Amino acid sequence: MSALAAERLSDEIMMPVHILVVEDEPKVSDLIHKGLTDEHFQVDIARTGARALAMVDATSYDLLILDVMLPDIDGFDICRAVRSGGHSVPILMLSARSLVEDRVRGLNTGADDYLTKPFDYAELSARIRALLRRAHEPSLIPLVVADLVLEPVTRTVHRRGRRIDLTPKEFALLEYLMRHAGHVVTRPMIAEYVWDFTWDRLTNVIDVFINHLRKKIELPGEPRLVHAVRGAGYVIREPQATD
Ligand code: CA
Repeated sequence: MSALAAERLSDEIMMPVHILVVEDEPKVSDLIHKGLTDEHFQVDIARTGARALAMVDATSYDLLILDVMLPDIDGFDICRAVRSGGHSVPILMLSARSLVEDRVRGLNTGADDYLTKPFDYAELSARIRALLRRAHEPSLIPLVVADLVLEPVTRTVHRRGRRIDLTPKEFALLEYLMRHAGHVVTRPMIAEYVWDFTWDRLTNVIDVFINHLRKKIELPGEPRLVHAVRGAGYVIREPQATD
């Protein structure tokens, strides 16, 4: 089959991606609507939280773009309600506030990503594409960083063929780091995900757990994978020449 024919076929098979935008400010929703429509997404707009919840129950959306500040129900509560209703649709939250606490709160209520207003449409588009890609990847595929392999299905971890026994918390911590491989995760993010606690006095606990984890996955002579990033948090990544 020629490349052109293949492309045409995939266009025919592909269902339109259906996105719900929950935003009461016409200026912002018009911008998003125009951009998404130009990219051939199918777009619905809800101007209130109540309307958004009704639409999510009635339609199977591929993605939600959810503003925090709405006239009735705030975005955090909508997010929580969508999740407790059993919907796993990817959610991107928008907020005029860039506070770390808001970001953590958004992610903790079940949002998948968080974007601060004002934003460039190109940035929004990139985030949407990343979320759609992630949603269509099975979350149970093995995670690999260099020679370290974590298998979510069997909950096992190996490095260079060596089986590594982890406690449930250590496993959750490693899985979280590996799902964000190459990106710094902050201590508040770790606290929320692994301990389901709000970040306050957990700083030492997290550092202790990171040390335990590192002793298990990085034997003497093995390249380091987990790195502390001063003032930010931790990252797991492929070894680099400068390590
Ligand atoms: Ca708004």
